Amino acid sequence: MDADDSRAPKGSLRKFLEHLSGAGKAIGVLTSGGDAQGMNAAVRAVVRMGIYVGAKVYFIYEGYQGMVDGGSNIAEADWESVSSILQVGGTIIGSARCQAFRTREGRLKAACNLLQRGITNLCVIGGDGSLTGANLFRKEWSGLLEELARNGQIDKEAVQKYAYLNVVGMVGSIDNDFCGTDMTIGTDSALHRIIEVVDAIMTTAQSHQRTFVLEVMGRHCGYLALVSALACGADWVFLPESPPEEGWEEQMCVKLSENRARKKRLNIIIVAEGAIDTQNKPITSEKIKELVVTQLGYDTRVTILGHVQRGGTPSAFDRILASRMGVEAVIALLEATPDTPACVVSLNGNHAVRLPLMECVQMTQDVQKAMDERRFQDAVRLRGRSFAGNLNTYKRLAIKLPDDQIPKTNCNVAVINVGAPAAGMNAAVRSAVRVGIADGHRMLAIYDGFDGFAKGQIKEIGWTDVGGWTGQGGSILGTKRVLPGKYLEEIATQMRTHSINALLIIGGFETCDRIKQSASGTKRRVFIIETMGGYCGYLANMGGLAAGADAAYIFEEPFDIRDLQSNVEHLTEKMKTTIQRGLVLRNESCSENYTTDFIYQLYSEEGKGVFDCRKNVLGHMQQGGAPSPFDRNFGTKISARAMEWITAKLKEARGRGKKFTTDDSICVLGISKRNVIFQPVAELKKQTDFEHRIPKEQWWLKLRPLMKILAKYKASYDVSDSGQLEHVQPWSV
Ligand code: ADP
Repeated sequence: MDADDSRAPKGSLRKFLEHLSGAGKAIGVLTSGGDAQGMNAAVRAVVRMGIYVGAKVYFIYEGYQGMVDGGSNIAEADWESVSSILQVGGTIIGSARCQAFRTREGRLKAACNLLQRGITNLCVIGGDGSLTGANLFRKEWSGLLEELARNGQIDKEAVQKYAYLNVVGMVGSIDNDFCGTDMTIGTDSALHRIIEVVDAIMTTAQSHQRTFVLEVMGRHCGYLALVSALACGADWVFLPESPPEEGWEEQMCVKLSENRARKKRLNIIIVAEGAIDTQNKPITSEKIKELVVTQLGYDTRVTILGHVQRGGTPSAFDRILASRMGVEAVIALLEATPDTPACVVSLNGNHAVRLPLMECVQMTQDVQKAMDERRFQDAVRLRGRSFAGNLNTYKRLAIKLPDDQIPKTNCNVAVINVGAPAAGMNAAVRSAVRVGIADGHRMLAIYDGFDGFAKGQIKEIGWTDVGGWTGQGGSILGTKRVLPGKYLEEIATQMRTHSINALLIIGGFETCDRIKQSASGTKRRVFIIETMGGYCGYLANMGGLAAGADAAYIFEEPFDIRDLQSNVEHLTEKMKTTIQRGLVLRNESCSENYTTDFIYQLYSEEGKGVFDCRKNVLGHMQQGGAPSPFDRNFGTKISARAMEWITAKLKEARGRGKKFTTDDSICVLGISKRNVIFQPVAELKKQTDFEHRIPKEQWWLKLRPLMKILAKYKASYDVSDSGQLEHVQPWSV
């Protein structure tokens, strides 16, 4: 937080300076094709990072149309022109479809307009169409320059000086229809909109017995449909990549009528806009409704979500994703050489990587080709590992095989919630219970955490008992913040009494996605917000990045009075600009003495006459509310994986008589960099700071400089894990 950031690793500082001088360079940024929430965060990051490294940054308004038309459509951006846009949906620089850019003549004009401003670096935020256009433009660049020279529009010197065009893409698309990235900008926000609607429908529909058919966007890609189906536990889902088997009409009706027989009042069917059957014929929401009405006579309603999905404020996830991608895009441009191919910045696990643009576009087109040729298994495989994983999980959780078709393992597996209730816990329990039953185990639920465990509050839990759990906040099983230490004897007795072979403990999640603070409106005011997390500064840090905070005080990065002073001075300076607002986040345990009150009073005193302060302790609202789509899916998926692991371990141990636990039979499952991994507790112990209940190394700490740079502090950004160009492989993305 201090101006020269003495805590930054010196090596990376050197690398930072060597690599990242943008002096003398000009970067153009545009948004093209369909708009998506989070595009503004990407624009803001490109502008600020570009200015930060000393480059000039130009807005290109109205997508490629503005590039072709030139004039006032290409205007230099300054630091303040991207203030207060982080929380705004859509794109403030406009987007358009542009026929002219599809022609060489149009691209010739565009090149001329860029050259007039010395722009040879382009940052394109759009879908695969926009990125294809950008790649073509780059390939043609030298030819276009020669033609402009022949026409006398530029001189020979300019041809030499501006010989290369660097292009970097960021995928802005709510459909998540682009191969090579786990998430595109806008997808998570679109999921939020869909889930809000489903939650709303669920409350009204409970009053009647109804079937809802919900159509979501995705003409060629079923991602939104699939993930919303997972997140709300839909009864049936229709996707373009994975059409239902022949005879699906009857199967679906059987499933719906079984639900009714079990007194389930509500059926939800989710349909992707582009859903098809195995003969490539469209399956429309109307067709599904007709089927349900004629076959079953149920009261059936169709809701087509349409543009609502593009609207509203971007989610915290999209803001962070787009900010990271924007910064990475600028680094990619500055590091580009004539030999580096145009690239896209993408997300792999929680890692930002660069991929060759055309390989991604090619693979995206290959998915379409596979669907057109009815090679549906290929289509799913090409969509990537996480798509296939989602589909698999959905199928396992939605449809229960008849009991007599499930081979029994004679194992009892118990599920318990511990620690603070967190959004997504119920989704995790539902998933564990259903996967466990499908794997042939008898599933037991333990109520009220370790306390309840010791007292024997243990009951068998069935498939339908967990119906509708995904969307509910808190912990339905109940949880208590007691440690098992003093109950070990009783717990051991209960394990014996109930013959528990394996135990799945769900707890310790932090609610990743609940904090969204935006403090716009009032002038000359600094908001000081206290976030939860114990000693873990994740929420304060990521909340800070998502909300564009000026500082975030966390335990992991010690701070002193000089840091506080430099932050106050920074805010005083900021009040002189047109951005007269400040936001400061403070993790609840970041410092014993610099409490939220202390910081509030210090800022109030020092800011007298310049700004005033408000403080807000977020407290338990961070744990409340309905879980976000991310938390629901994360809970669902990770728990399914955990159960699969337990099943494998139980199989290994079978037939060996008395079972003893080994080091690797007690594991914690989590995402590390790009992969979901199981870590033996013994190993994890070495990596944990038990006193403060946090890992010794936290991946997100490397994102701290990002927040500072985007808030105009001088900070160094460790580029050590950016800069490598990777290749797309369907099985690794
Ligand atoms: P998206 O980027 O969301 O896929 P489109 O496919 O409509 O949206 O593309 C947006 C714009 O990108 C088009 O209007 C056009 O200007 C440009 N574009 C798309 N494909 C090409 C192409 N093959 N060549 C040149 N420009 C293209």
